[in-house]
Amino acid sequence: MTLDTASAPATFQRRPLPIMTPKQIELLEPKLADVIEYRKSGLSLNHVIGCPLECGYCIRHLYKNFEMKVPRALMTDEDAVAALVGHRYFRPHVTPIQLFNKATDPMLPIVKGHTFNTLRLLDERGLTNHVLVITRWRVTEEDCAILNSFRNIKLTILVTYSGIGHTGIEPVDSDIAATSLKTLYANAQSYRTILYWRPIVPGLNDSDEHLAFAKKLSEHAHATVFTGLFFRDEIAAYYEENKLPSPYEDTARRKIMPEQLEDRILDLFRRPADSEEPWGPLFRKTSCAVAYAHGLADYNGHYGVKELCDICPKRQLGLCAAAWNAPALPDAERLAKELGSTGPVEITERAVITEGLAEQPRYYMQHGYGFQVHDRAHPHRERRHGRAEIGWREGERGAPTP
Ligand code: SF4
Repeated sequence: MTLDTASAPATFQRRPLPIMTPKQIELLEPKLADVIEYRKSGLSLNHVIGCPLECGYCIRHLYKNFEMKVPRALMTDEDAVAALVGHRYFRPHVTPIQLFNKATDPMLPIVKGHTFNTLRLLDERGLTNHVLVITRWRVTEEDCAILNSFRNIKLTILVTYSGIGHTGIEPVDSDIAATSLKTLYANAQSYRTILYWRPIVPGLNDSDEHLAFAKKLSEHAHATVFTGLFFRDEIAAYYEENKLPSPYEDTARRKIMPEQLEDRILDLFRRPADSEEPWGPLFRKTSCAVAYAHGLADYNGHYGVKELCDICPKRQLGLCAAAWNAPALPDAERLAKELGSTGPVEITERAVITEGLAEQPRYYMQHGYGFQVHDRAHPHRERRHGRAEIGWREGERGAPTP
């Protein structure tokens, strides 16, 4: 059944979570106490933290917050939105926003009132920025009616689905996410929904059956992103402590997506060569899928990293090509300097290369220019953009690129 959202009341119950005391906040990792952080897919707002879902690979291991199972608020939604729009890196209508993507799930029953209220507060300001909400939890038709009620923000709901059956690693049944995706897609009017197929891990969820199921599921999404596992030291330590099977011998700074696994996925999605969408709406990068779903160019300027675009729908290639322009060198030099760079700026066919500039100001530049901004100290390798070295053969295809 499809809900008639035109007549559905787009109201929601608000039972605000208790706000943590300054003393409690003081005890948090500084990165968690800071409710705004610039990440690659956008300026991320996280004024609710705590999650009971216990995914073994959760990023909260990195913030020493994995044990906080009961969500709590660090401030009111009103204060959080005021802090976001007043943030030094926020640009109205430009900066992509992410909501509750670091330390909780935005669709948990006791969190979703905050999610809807925060979206409402952003929407009421007339902001047209992208807003990304990532969940693996239950989404109902009533939730869809609320998500359809926003008029200004470009809202995308990404549903994390892995198909991992090992309950020590993935205690939440993947069927919940699959059902949510189908509900979201069937009811989508003003928002878009994405199958966020991750983490794909060799030996855990990469059988032919797993891949075929995910492909079938991708028919219930406006676009699909496939990606690997963040396997950092803190997450590896949790696996060891809990005697979980370790998927890789080494840890890595970037997500791990082995080459052969990617090839198998691409083979499976391949359509006839003359198709307008030779691999369907399948993407390697989150922002590419979000942009495609809204009929816009990629806001991260991945078009400069040409090998990422080889699977992209033809119309999307045209959109990205038209929007992609290198900034003028003096302008990039001035901005990088203002933001704190310590070395020369260079502009290549792929990216602005900076030195001594932290991730957050680099993303600020990147989203402002719609052009990649890299750090000289962390060169990206061809065909492995933003991915770890693990699982890729050495050789010409993996030569370092600026
Ligand atoms: S053309 Fe390239 S940059 Fe644009 S959405 Fe496709 S993969 Fe991303």
